[in-house]
Amino acid sequence: MSGGNALRLGRILGVEIKLDYSWFIIFVLVTVSLSGQIFPSLYAGWSRGTYWLLGALTSVLFFTSVLAHELAHSLVSQAYGVPVHDITLFIFGGAAHIDEEPKTARAELLMALAGPGTSLVISALFGLFALLSRSTSPHLGAIGTWLAGINASLAAFNLIPGFPLDGGRVFRALVWGLTGNLQRATQFATGLGRLIAFGFVLLGVWQLFIGNWVNGLWIAFIGWFLDSAAASSYRRFTLRHLLAGHTAREVMTSECTLIPRHLTLDVFVEQIMLPSGRRCFPVQEGGRIRGLLTLHRIREVPRERWSQTRVDDIMIPWAELKSVRPDEELNTVFDRMAAEDVNQLPVIEGDSLLGMVARDNLLAFIHQRTELGL
Ligand SMILES: [Zn+2]
Repeated sequence: MSGGNALRLGRILGVEIKLDYSWFIIFVLVTVSLSGQIFPSLYAGWSRGTYWLLGALTSVLFFTSVLAHELAHSLVSQAYGVPVHDITLFIFGGAAHIDEEPKTARAELLMALAGPGTSLVISALFGLFALLSRSTSPHLGAIGTWLAGINASLAAFNLIPGFPLDGGRVFRALVWGLTGNLQRATQFATGLGRLIAFGFVLLGVWQLFIGNWVNGLWIAFIGWFLDSAAASSYRRFTLRHLLAGHTAREVMTSECTLIPRHLTLDVFVEQIMLPSGRRCFPVQEGGRIRGLLTLHRIREVPRERWSQTRVDDIMIPWAELKSVRPDEELNTVFDRMAAEDVNQLPVIEGDSLLGMVARDNLLAFIHQRTELGL
């Protein structure tokens, strides 16, 4: 699920909706198979144009249903105080990107069930619509029947207990609720998820062997996707778990060297930066901090211009500094670095600079704790 290769569609109920470029492939495949195969074989004798119109309309309604499924997850998540980054439709369906873990087993259970529950309700509504319209308009009946079936399948597929599918989240919530241990529950759910993903791959390979090329490849691909999703969810969980409850103050580097703003870069690098081995350089004038000089900014200046460039030409002014507070949780710090696309953030309390927290500090913190098995 790539974040960068997506089209932003706008916001629904406060959640950003995106279309990954891979979605267009599945949209075309679904439309073509409905118009060229499914509808002509079920309802013979309609015109070619009718099949294409019905196919395209049904496909759009199908992906709208997928979106409704993801929105249901998102709304419950937000109701329990866990923000939703965005919903992305991509080649394997839809995904609501929720960075944080739910706070209770009950919240996770309801969040996980909301999606398949919504798909079942949508399925029932389309079924009813098909029943009512079949006698007056066979075309609308055809759309309703297929959408009722596919939404029921969507609910069923998502309820497979392979984490991070919805069913796997239900499983995790139940184990979490019973044991009171989220970490243990996540381990179990991930193990089961990878086992089920492996089952998909085997099923796909078997289908390939008996000559079902398209189905076989598709099922194997889904298996591969589920396996990597389970593995990366687990990695993310472990990371969050390690960082939770710790603050920026614990990992920040507080040795900062104050530098005057009129210093040229060549003198700064040779006489201050290299000998000190530090990376935190607040720029001061008249006892006040005016800004911050970073390695990143220095690298942007060609070396031959270092002797003519002064510190205050390239420093980040105080007012523009993106910063964190010392009591901010490391998970928040991590998210802020990702959002701002920076490798370090100054730690600021009031108008004083307490230190810097760098990605390296976070990695060292994580590394140490993983080594010690904490
Ligand atoms: Zn779902």
